Amino acid sequence: MSESTLRIGLVLPDVMGTYGDGGNALILRQRARMRGLDAEIVELTLDDDVPDSLDVYTLGGAEDAAQRIATRHLAEHPGLQRAAEKGTPVLAICAAIQVLGHWYETSAGERVSGISMLDLTTSPQEVRAIGELITDPLLDGLTQPLSGFENHRGGTTLGQAAKPLGRVKHGVGNGGGEPVEGVVQGSVLATYMHGPLLARNPELADYLLAKATGTELAPLDLPQVDRLRRERLAAGR
Ligand code: GLN
Repeated sequence: MSESTLRIGLVLPDVMGTYGDGGNALILRQRARMRGLDAEIVELTLDDDVPDSLDVYTLGGAEDAAQRIATRHLAEHPGLQRAAEKGTPVLAICAAIQVLGHWYETSAGERVSGISMLDLTTSPQEVRAIGELITDPLLDGLTQPLSGFENHRGGTTLGQAAKPLGRVKHGVGNGGGEPVEGVVQGSVLATYMHGPLLARNPELADYLLAKATGTELAPLDLPQVDRLRRERLAAGR
């Protein structure tokens, strides 16, 4: 954390805010404040440059057309790329996985260049993946199963540098044959899970928060959060 306030970048909520993924920034802010830390959300819209100086960044899902506008903005304002190179944590949901990759094909079959922060490509799957998704995490430091709601036509194939975030227990995940879900590459975590993800997976929220603050965080005892986590896991079984 560079200053005394944790600064959470909510990237392009005006075009990548369709699926409620802005809730991930709210969860990070709330869990930081519950530890007595000052925290604020910095909304970066199409009217703004993308600074590389924030402590953590989140990006949400979007429909094909909106996703394309976001891709162009991020290519023209490469602050997110610089932040990730410095090791700043970035959380990318659904369409954002695709935008951060080398290229993606829209449902209409058009190929769009991404910003190549992640070593992956995305092509449309025959059937849209919609429904509850449950995975076992493959990331050191995570012990609890992850759950979310997937809703995507694109199927993502990982290259050598990109590792999956989880192994699919229920649902489709990245698609493309292998039962894996999400991406981990350097300081970037990406997943197809909406929910919002961090409301349903508090362990992952604190994982990101610990990276963003550079501190170990005391656990929070929040029975209602754990109840939601278990209820959503049960719904997907
Ligand atoms: N438009 C993309 C797809 O269908 C992403 C959708 C989303 O973000 N939920 O694959």
